[in-house]
Amino acid sequence: MKINLIRDRNVDQEVYAQVVDLLQSTPGAIQFKGELIIDEEEPEVQFSLSFKNKIISENSADIKSSAKEQQIPQASMAYKPRFSWRKLFERSNKVRLTKSIPELEASYLITDKENELNYFSAFDVNQPSNGFIQASDWDLFIDSPAAYPIAYEVIATFLQSHMFKSMEEVEQNTHQKPIGCMNDFCQDKSQVLLKLRTADICKNCMGILKERIEPSILKHAIALMESLRLKMKFVQNIDDEQTLLKITNKQLQFMGNFGTITISLAPMEMAIYKLFLNHKEGIRFADLIDYKDEFLNYYRTLSPNLTYDACLNTITKYIRTFEDNSMSERISKIRKKIEGGLGKEQAKPFIIAGANAEPKRIEVDRNFLIK
Ligand SMILES: [Zn+2]
Repeated sequence: MKINLIRDRNVDQEVYAQVVDLLQSTPGAIQFKGELIIDEEEPEVQFSLSFKNKIISENSADIKSSAKEQQIPQASMAYKPRFSWRKLFERSNKVRLTKSIPELEASYLITDKENELNYFSAFDVNQPSNGFIQASDWDLFIDSPAAYPIAYEVIATFLQSHMFKSMEEVEQNTHQKPIGCMNDFCQDKSQVLLKLRTADICKNCMGILKERIEPSILKHAIALMESLRLKMKFVQNIDDEQTLLKITNKQLQFMGNFGTITISLAPMEMAIYKLFLNHKEGIRFADLIDYKDEFLNYYRTLSPNLTYDACLNTITKYIRTFEDNSMSERISKIRKKIEGGLGKEQAKPFIIAGANAEPKRIEVDRNFLIK
């Protein structure tokens, strides 16, 4: 079973990459495929808060008019264009067609766009392997990097698309009063916190799932939800256990009781990270020239397809920080990636930080590095 994840053009690339990393880090019967993208286009219907009762257009004829809207804080929802579900499903299907994704594989659009009923995610009852997951606004509800709730919604949408055969079934089986089950309706969207915290499925819903989903796939989905729950608990906790760091060719792997959180870095980012990690006292930008050979060495090892000269030219550009911003920009990007995986607090010891003209350093105790 495969789930294809499509990034809507405006969704942050780092958030999307972290969603894929999170889902791929628990092995099992479901495979997750990333690196799919769809370009922007204009919404065909735009409306603001004052028109919210007129949202049902011909583009959303498949949505039952009795379907309830989910509520988000008033202040944050004014004047944002909202897209019909039909349009979002079409976008997901468009990539399915151009990439020849088989009918049986799921394909979900990870989108920044608001949708007509304000759902966090939905699947198409007419073609259940198509769906969308909302990637924006999570910061209104939850104090963790957006990748975690998005990854959770991917699993929940997948399970729901197998559980329910019609909108009637969806309505009959979702819990209007939250009980901490995946199928809590969350009319007040802040109630989503409860289901993310429990990552649970109630007995009734589990009964339906067992009838309709292959055991190995269900087992993997449940393992993924539990893994996300533990990791979210870790990223939200500011004074937790010590985290171990292991570095592979392409990834930083953070390990603890929560399992392993992996963060993928590009070759240049990894070369920079290794350089700063190897000098615990830190390096001032003005002194980078003294570390040129070591930096070049890391970069060459990580970029086997580049020539010596190409690597040397790039490194030379990066260390000339007085005339080129590449080093600063990459360091910010690395920080953003680590914070996207670990949350701001837990990321602190692992980011490259330091005031202007002062040495930039990675604070972590080197005893917690795994060679
Ligand atoms: Zn339930």
